[in-house]
Amino acid sequence: LATQLSLNRSTISKAMTVLLDDGVLTTAFGGGTRVASNSWSTMVHQTPVDWQHYIDAGEFVANQRTIQTINEIETQAKIRLSTGEIGPDLFPKALMQRAMRAATDNLTNLNYLAPQGYLPLRQVLAKRLASWGIETTAENVLITSGSLQSLQLVAVSLLAQAATVYTTPVSYLKSLRVLQSVQAQFKSLPTDGEGLQYWHIAPSTHQRLLYVIPTFDNPTGQVMSQQRRIDLMKYAQERQLPIIEDSAYQDLWLEQRPPQPLKALDQAGNVLYLGTISKSLAPGMRIGWIVGPQPIIKRLADVKMQTDYGASSLSQLVLTSVLNDPAYDQYLMHFRTQLKRRRDHALMVLTQELGTLASWTTPAGGFYIWLTLPDTVSVQRLFDSAAEQGILLNPGSVYGHGASHQIRLSYAYADEASFSFGIKQLAKLIQAQLSK
Ligand code: PMP
Repeated sequence: LATQLSLNRSTISKAMTVLLDDGVLTTAFGGGTRVASNSWSTMVHQTPVDWQHYIDAGEFVANQRTIQTINEIETQAKIRLSTGEIGPDLFPKALMQRAMRAATDNLTNLNYLAPQGYLPLRQVLAKRLASWGIETTAENVLITSGSLQSLQLVAVSLLAQAATVYTTPVSYLKSLRVLQSVQAQFKSLPTDGEGLQYWHIAPSTHQRLLYVIPTFDNPTGQVMSQQRRIDLMKYAQERQLPIIEDSAYQDLWLEQRPPQPLKALDQAGNVLYLGTISKSLAPGMRIGWIVGPQPIIKRLADVKMQTDYGASSLSQLVLTSVLNDPAYDQYLMHFRTQLKRRRDHALMVLTQELGTLASWTTPAGGFYIWLTLPDTVSVQRLFDSAAEQGILLNPGSVYGHGASHQIRLSYAYADEASFSFGIKQLAKLIQAQLSK
């Protein structure tokens, strides 16, 4: 060994002594010297990996604590007063089962699809968007794994570090951390009855864009007026301002169709329009779409291929069948009618139970009622004590700093009996706080 390693004998002998002392080597009577069993794994256990160091080094930071709690207990909660999902009793089971059969009857493979997604799906989406005044083609559509991924793709593909993202004071975007990889800086725009006041956007040489949910906002339910949409688009075109239009709730009007999307007014290609099937049908399909100018769509598709090689082929095939089935439009009509019934019921229950204790919005579509409580009520304590009773609600603070006395309620998930019961319990908890 000494000759092989070009070391002198005494160096090797000293090294053996050290290794024997450390227990890495053992000597057994008549068995010579050998590496102790488990010696390496013992050493690894003694100095565990400093995972915290790796966690701290990662791009994402932890979710807000309240959101983590909501995510953890949501599926077990007895009553979900705020969940932004379709209630199980409203799910169109027969329609979905038929679509699944139709999509899989002649199935020959479930391989990867084209970078922009399944062509027949992009075609049927382009056709459906035309009914909203959005003139587009399959070439301008990218299929994603939902709007959250669409936002992520936009962030990592198009945004400069520390780009300014304008939003409303409370916004779905503020409950997310998807833009943190580029350290986007949020700036709030004031709103009035017609929508956000875009004229407060400061002139800047630094990269900036606007994120807006013009139709049945999450969490406020607000709808931007037709005139504000026209004015905003004029402003955006004059100032080369890019807009991300999140249209998740657009199909879910309760009384009358809302004004046309910003994308329908977009002559210069300022708008990246985000659509999703999550709110109208099934969030678990994880399918969304982005409509925009072709070079942008091609770039986002390329980044998507680098990220996950495409959204689920199975979901894309099934959704194509759904959207080509005339029964989908009948289902949507039925779903709107049911949502309207639930909204009316929810408003009635709120009047009965919280009439003098709170104020709230009357949404014309989407899922949400935005409830405001007196300053003397701690919504955080309400959240904690309701959760102890198995009742889950989303505190307004999740959606922005100025909303610590608000709650986002949803009439989409809980059925009428559960909603009534949940609000009655909430009223008791509020009374208990006020009487202290
Ligand atoms: N945008 C808005 C406004 C939403 O409310 C939601 C879901 N809460 C999403 C996007 C996310 O949708 P997806 O399931 O398509 O990622």
